[in-house]
Amino acid sequence: MFEGLSEKLQATFKRLRGKGKLTEADVTEALREVRIALLEADVNFKVVKELIARIKERSVGQEVLESLTPGQHVIKIVHEEIIRLMGGSESKISISSKPPTIIMLVGLQGAGKTTHGAKLANMLKKQGKHPLLVACDIYRPAAIKQLEVLGEQIKVPVFSLGQENPVKIASESLVFSRKNGNDVVIIDTAGRLHINEELMDELSRIKGNVKPHEILLVVDAMTGQDAVNAADAFHQQLGLDGVILSKLDGDTRGGAALSVKAVTGCPIKFAGTGEKMDALEVFHPDRIASRILGMGDVLTLIERAQQNVDEKKARELEEKIRKQELTLDDYLDQIKQLRSMGPLSSVLEMLPGIGKQLKGVEIDEKEFYKAEAIICSMTADERRKPILIKDSRKKRIAKGSGTTVVDVGRLLKQYEQTKKMMKQLSGLPGMGGAVKGGT
Ligand code: GDP
Ligand code: MG
Repeated sequence: MFEGLSEKLQATFKRLRGKGKLTEADVTEALREVRIALLEADVNFKVVKELIARIKERSVGQEVLESLTPGQHVIKIVHEEIIRLMGGSESKISISSKPPTIIMLVGLQGAGKTTHGAKLANMLKKQGKHPLLVACDIYRPAAIKQLEVLGEQIKVPVFSLGQENPVKIASESLVFSRKNGNDVVIIDTAGRLHINEELMDELSRIKGNVKPHEILLVVDAMTGQDAVNAADAFHQQLGLDGVILSKLDGDTRGGAALSVKAVTGCPIKFAGTGEKMDALEVFHPDRIASRILGMGDVLTLIERAQQNVDEKKARELEEKIRKQELTLDDYLDQIKQLRSMGPLSSVLEMLPGIGKQLKGVEIDEKEFYKAEAIICSMTADERRKPILIKDSRKKRIAKGSGTTVVDVGRLLKQYEQTKKMMKQLSGLPGMGGAVKGGT
């Protein structure tokens, strides 16, 4: 998902980071590219216009242009504004203090209502609830069967009365739920190919009758701005509490995810990421924004780093990485600091790009103690200029550290690799400022 958008934004940010100092013209040019990328991803044009204006207002200030890493600063602002656009933090569904909690799913035909009703029931069941699925789509003969099959699969009861009036089915289901101890009732309704009065009428009558706590609209992420328009129309007619964005696993450009909240005021509460029953995620605006900007779980990493890394040392290290002057002394410091952040493999896995490269690579923490011993057996000159370390010096170092020449060779190779990796890292979004507080 979001591939095109992600690629374009990352290319723009790469250029931004490449500059030492930013001028207002640099920012303007970068934002022009961001604007085009968003429009191409089918984000609503009004939303794009307002977003860019806000980013620009925040990005051309003195503070940014004169900051140590102005490129990073701008990227951080874009990241924050995209999160804001999607509603800031995640929006939960409200569980009624007086059971059952009634959830009504609405949407166009094929959007994914039936599938997501079942996925939601599955999720709630895992949280210890006792959901009931209600089959109110009486128009498609196979619809009731479909819900029953899914209910069977996730072991959740399905209430149906055949082709009975949907308003009656819905209200009868409440009676049933009270009798059977179901604390959440999920009503699956019919859809049409287009929004029309007949559909809205029926939904309004069900709503008036059962007074749901949550009316959730299911929209297909692949339909882009059509999804947003549908959300707008449903919201005006029914008053929605939230949106489930389905089919986010497909080749979606991102337009719907980025525009729904801004256009309709309704938050996206869940995202569907596949046909299977467990392919449902709580929609986290911050994680989606990070995914779009290719930041992996860098934010989590930044938090950890900020908690554990000595700030001054980190700043010096960052400066050295930028100038590619990483010495073996720095390498030693780095090993110690990384170790203080928790198991190394989990730290490295969070880095975009790097995680994948490391898949299957065993990281032996004992190696790091060995590495410390080896570096400690080197002279100050050798640590600054590892190129000096030829065979005879290797022998001496191995002896001094209680290791072998092979070990020393391996360490030097690892150091070179790390240097290369750090070079890569400083080229990744979010990483230049990763170890600094407040950038
Ligand atoms: P409804 O008409 O709104 O009830 O839609 P359905 O729940 O019947 O879904 C329509 C089709 O979309 C079915 O084939 C589903 O398997 C598929 N579908 C639903 N949600 C998702 C999703 O999140 N990802 C993918 N890939 N397919 C989905
Ligand atoms: Mg259906």
